[in-house]
Amino acid sequence: MPENQLPEHPPIEQPADGYRGVANGAYEPPVPIEVPALFAWPPRPLAALVWAVRMILYPWILFYLVLSILIWRWFLPSEATMATLQPWWIAGIWFRNLLVVGLIVGGLHWWLYVRRAQGDDFKFNPRWPGTGSKFTFGSQIRDNAFWTMTSGVAFLSIYEALTHWAYASGLVARPGWAANPVVVLLMATLGVVFVSTAHFWANHRLIHWVPVYRRVHALHHRNPNPTPWTGISMHPLEHLVYFSGFLVFWVLPVHPLVILMFAMYEGPGPAPSHSGFARVRIGRWEAPAGDLFHQLHHRYFEVNYGNTQMPIDRWTGTWHDGTKAAHQQLKGRRRADQLD
Ligand SMILES: [Zn+2]
Ligand SMILES: [Zn+2]
Repeated sequence: MPENQLPEHPPIEQPADGYRGVANGAYEPPVPIEVPALFAWPPRPLAALVWAVRMILYPWILFYLVLSILIWRWFLPSEATMATLQPWWIAGIWFRNLLVVGLIVGGLHWWLYVRRAQGDDFKFNPRWPGTGSKFTFGSQIRDNAFWTMTSGVAFLSIYEALTHWAYASGLVARPGWAANPVVVLLMATLGVVFVSTAHFWANHRLIHWVPVYRRVHALHHRNPNPTPWTGISMHPLEHLVYFSGFLVFWVLPVHPLVILMFAMYEGPGPAPSHSGFARVRIGRWEAPAGDLFHQLHHRYFEVNYGNTQMPIDRWTGTWHDGTKAAHQQLKGRRRADQLD
């Protein structure tokens, strides 16, 4: 598609008085959003190493890693069981994912939006979730929770179960090196982040093609002001494509822990990044949550298709770093009514 024929989207939420970043009067996150040191040019090896270590120790990555280890050790059916496709063990995986997604996403929602435990501290947008006829059941929360817990968890579980089965049945070989502890740790953290980001960028870019956008991806974009339940609130056809990232592991052999880690990263993973709060605070403990980069995508549509961890948007010219200068530059590449 030529540069000057970018897809048209339905009218987007615009502040009446011009560009004010994403904050619109609430929390002002630090900008510009930087490209990770790992992708700096000229190379900065030491900074890249520090970035990689910090990524592995990122609180949500560590949390999903612990959860994946617990599931792998005690709750995953044996390889002998998963060698044949049986409804009962697949239903078990579905039920476990229902619990994991329900507790993590529902817990974040309860803390930030029901209890409003931190008020609007670190909140990107001062508004709270809305109602209206554009939403299924007339409310943003009910709409988003419905698509997450029905189609979202179902597609997540089917792809996860089929991937375990592919290995257990011998369809995909798992060489010895795939179980090397260093390989497992790197693949479960950085490997999952990069596979997920590259796959997400590609499928997300594709579903912004207008005919597909209108019929499929518009459901996710009902939410210019996302909440935790928005993370995987998608049309079933988007779930079919979004969770197909599991298929990477049908050609790139990995340990079962990496498959579980991918399930955590793709399932409940988008909840904190869509939470609408830059940070979540529980007592004296505080962790990064909301992702300004993706929040800008929900607000301005044709920027930031991927994630910051792998700056494909920088390489393709759609990187919005949150500054007014970047906004003006991107706006210049599109018709005046696309971005204000
Ligand atoms: Zn989103
Ligand atoms: Zn989108």
